[in-house]
Amino acid sequence: MIGCECAVCTSSGPRNQRLRPSILVTADDGANILVDTPPEMRLAFLANHVKRLDAILYTHSHADHIFGLDDVRTFNYRTGKAMPVYAEPEVLDDLRRIYTYIFKPTQAGGGKPQVDLFPLVPEQLLTLHGTDILPLRVCHGKLPVLAYKFGPRFAYVTDVSFIPPETWPHLENLDLLMLDAVRREPHDTHFHLDAALETIALLQPKRTLLTHLSHDYDYAVTNAELPQGVELAFDGQTVDL
Ligand SMILES: [Zn+2]
Ligand SMILES: [Zn+2]
Ligand SMILES: [Zn+2]
Repeated sequence: MIGCECAVCTSSGPRNQRLRPSILVTADDGANILVDTPPEMRLAFLANHVKRLDAILYTHSHADHIFGLDDVRTFNYRTGKAMPVYAEPEVLDDLRRIYTYIFKPTQAGGGKPQVDLFPLVPEQLLTLHGTDILPLRVCHGKLPVLAYKFGPRFAYVTDVSFIPPETWPHLENLDLLMLDAVRREPHDTHFHLDAALETIALLQPKRTLLTHLSHDYDYAVTNAELPQGVELAFDGQTVDL
């Protein structure tokens, strides 16, 4: 957190240094599917040597999830193709409004990102590069947003404070759940730690990685306190599914 001198913010431990949330899913054919384009997307790609990007899915249009989009032009240059972008219609409208220069015929200058926008509907299956992707409705305070399930056993559920009844069955029997737990104190638009743990106790995934983490959590101290099968995620972490 900017200006903070707490033990986590001043820690030299790399697992206490957090960029904004995103995941990259690699399909069996090697294609990379990105969920959200956070402001530090470029830094995360450089740090993790990401050389390929094949599609982007958006959960919602808050700044911490969209403000890295401009850097997809690197991949446009490499492939000569527009980047497929999938989101709910309201989010696509926000992208058109916020990134006017991408969608208006203005001078190209150093290059503009090229994107093809495709609307998503919750619970309508999308298959990309052989990977089944199921968008699921969850609520971020009053804002409806999307969670994503990849194949039968993994779901990414961030920026969530309420899981509607229709989504619950899709989140049962998971091998891996990534779940929002923004801080220790209750929050209007995110699960706090106890709400996340209550949800995990009901869903019983084999393993849970908590994400969208603030400076409330020292990595080692918190992991030692968490129940079996629940861990904090960390930047650059990779998981085989
Ligand atoms: Zn701090
Ligand atoms: Zn948000
Ligand atoms: Zn967020």
